[in-house]
Amino acid sequence: MSWLYTGAMSLNVTPSSALLLFSGGQDSASCLAWALNRYDRVETIGFEYGQRHEVEMRARLDVRRRMAALDPEWARRLGDDHVVDLTGYGMLAESALTADRAIEMDTSGLPSTFVPGRNLVFLTVASALAYRRGHSVMVGGMCETDFSGYPDCRRETLDALQASLTLGLECEMTIETPLMALTKAQTWELAQALGGDRLVELIRIYTHTCYRGDRDALHVWGYGCGDCPACELREAGWHAWQSMGANP
Ligand code: ZN
Repeated sequence: MSWLYTGAMSLNVTPSSALLLFSGGQDSASCLAWALNRYDRVETIGFEYGQRHEVEMRARLDVRRRMAALDPEWARRLGDDHVVDLTGYGMLAESALTADRAIEMDTSGLPSTFVPGRNLVFLTVASALAYRRGHSVMVGGMCETDFSGYPDCRRETLDALQASLTLGLECEMTIETPLMALTKAQTWELAQALGGDRLVELIRIYTHTCYRGDRDALHVWGYGCGDCPACELREAGWHAWQSMGANP
C-alpha cells in the first residue's frame, strides 16, 4: 500500500487540469474562478438528485457562460460541463432538500437539509469521470467554518476519501477545497481578489444558494427566500464582508 503514496509524492508536476463539482451556488462559483486561475483546463460536473428546484441547474449554466465572458483566458480554459443523474440516490437519501419537509434541526443536531453521504457519493462518482477525462484533481466548495455541521464537509472526511480514491483507482486523486478554512465573508473577499467587482456582481446576482429555490426578490446579498439556513448564511456573510470594508 505504501508504494502508492510514495509514487504519488514523487510526482513533482503541477496538475494542469481539474474537474470541479459545480452546483451554481456562491461557493462553487468562487471555486470555479479559483480553478480557472490555477489550471489550464477546467471541466465541471453537476448532479441531478431530485432537488426541489430546477433553478439550481439553470443557474450553473448561466454562471458558467457569464464567467467565461468575464475573461478570454477563463473562456479558453473552461471545458465541458457534465450532468449526472443521481435521482435514485436522492430518493434513497431523502431529506428536506429533496422532499417536502420543513427545514429544522433533528435530534442529532444536524439540519434536516443534511443529505447523508452526499459529498462522498458526489466525489466518488466525479472521480470516475475525472479518471476517464485525465484529471488528477477534483475541486469542491466544501467548507468547515460557517457551515451547518455537515460531517462530509470536513477536511478530515475528504482526506480519508482522497486516500481511498487514490488506492481504489490506483492513481493519484487529489481533492482541492479552497474554501475549507474561509468564512463566507472571506469567500466574497476571494471572489473580489480573483475577478474584481465584475465577478462579485456575477456571483451576487446569478448564483443560487437558497434551499427553497426562491428567485423572486433580489436582496443586496443575492436572490433567495431570506429565511432558510442557506439564505441566512449567505446574508450574514455578505454583511460581514461589507463590514470588513468591501467595496463592490
Ligand atoms: Zn432561502
